[in-house]
Amino acid sequence: GMQNPGKEHLYKVLVIGDLGVGKTSIIKRYVHQTYSTNYRATIGVDFALKVLNWDSETVRLQLWDIAGQERFGNMTRVYYREAMGAFIVFDVTRPTTFEAITKWKEDLDSKLMLTNRESIATVLLANKCDQGREVLTNNGVKMDQFCKDNGFVGWFETSAKENTNISEAANFLVKHIMATE
Ligand code: GDP
Ligand code: MG
Repeated sequence: GMQNPGKEHLYKVLVIGDLGVGKTSIIKRYVHQTYSTNYRATIGVDFALKVLNWDSETVRLQLWDIAGQERFGNMTRVYYREAMGAFIVFDVTRPTTFEAITKWKEDLDSKLMLTNRESIATVLLANKCDQGREVLTNNGVKMDQFCKDNGFVGWFETSAKENTNISEAANFLVKHIMATE
C-alpha cells in the first residue's frame, strides 16, 4: 500500500495440468496478448514475465510453463522450488483432465510447502469455456465445494481463445499470494 511506495514483488507462479489443456495458450494470452491454435510442445521449462502495477507497488509474475513434461503426470521438486502460487488447469471438454486435477494438486503439495507449512495459493482454471460447460454441469461436482475439499483458493472458467477471465484469475491469485507472503 501507500506505506511502501515503489515496493517490488517477484512471484514465481506455476502453470500445471495435463497436456493440451491450454497452459501455454493461457500464458501467451496473458503475457503477449496473442492466441494461436498451434504452439509447439517445447521440451523443458518456458518462462514468461508479466509486470503488474499494484496500487503504488510493482508485481512481477514469473509464469512457469512445464512445456512438454506433462506426460509424466508429476514434476520434479526443482521445478516447484520457491513458487509462491500456482494455476492448475483442466480442459472443460475432456473429463480425464478434470480427474487429473487432484493428482497434480497432491504432487504439488507433496513437494512444496511455504515456511509456515501451508501449501501455496492455488487457483483452478476450467479452460476452453468457449466450448461449452458440459463437463462443469455434468460431472456432478459442485466446483466451490470441490475447491474447498481440495485446497484451492478459488476457480475460474477461462478461455485463452476468447480472453475470458485470465487477468481476473491472475489478480485473484496475486491477492492470495500477497496475503500469505
Ligand atoms: P498445453 O499443452 O496445456 O500447453 O496446451 P496448449 O496451450 O498447447 O493448447 C492445446 C490446444 O488447445 C491448442 O490447439 C490451443 O489452441 C487449444 N486451446 C487452448 N486454450 C483454448 C481455449 O481457451 N479455447 C479453445 N477452444 N481452445 C484452446
Ligand atoms: Mg504447452
